[in-house]
Amino acid sequence: MRCPFCKKNNCSQVLDSRPTKNYKAIRRRRKCQNCLQRYTTYERIEEPNSGLLVLKRSGKIQPFDKRKLKKSIANACHKLPIQDEALENLTDDILQNIEQQFKQQISYKNIYQITIKHLKKFHKMAYIRYASAYMEFENLDELLQPLQVFFSTTTEPPPTASTTEPKTQHPPQTQKENPNETKENKNP
Ligand SMILES: [Zn+2]
Repeated sequence: MRCPFCKKNNCSQVLDSRPTKNYKAIRRRRKCQNCLQRYTTYERIEEPNSGLLVLKRSGKIQPFDKRKLKKSIANACHKLPIQDEALENLTDDILQNIEQQFKQQISYKNIYQITIKHLKKFHKMAYIRYASAYMEFENLDELLQPLQVFFSTTTEPPPTASTTEPKTQHPPQTQKENPNETKENKNP
């Protein structure tokens, strides 16, 4: 381990070791014996590939990569006061949710939907950032394109594009002036 302060290698003393809340990592508090600064390290299991495939925006299909999921969340949390442990726990929760619902393949849109649901409860600003980063790429054509690429490689016909009907707008109801509002104070 290289000290993040004085950059000297292999001179840390472990002061404390304990599992994280979800027991998926060991958190170690270390003290550099050169500069005496303290820092934290995490030891985690390198999780085996679940075999889950992702249908990407480009139409390509790739193995699911937890690190990419975490990176997309970390980008949304950039410079927010959120610790790596919280990010890791959140990623684990999302992954667990994904694996409950999808056994073989998931589309990037489903990943987005599950992630955004968790982020909404996790941190408001990260939620807004994640949503806006996603929206930047999305329009109807881009949403349909990967599906068409996907279906064109199989024998199934492409999905029928639902036409974007403008939302029917109800004209604002004009409030009629009430003619009965005449004062009837005729009492002498
Ligand atoms: Zn040091």
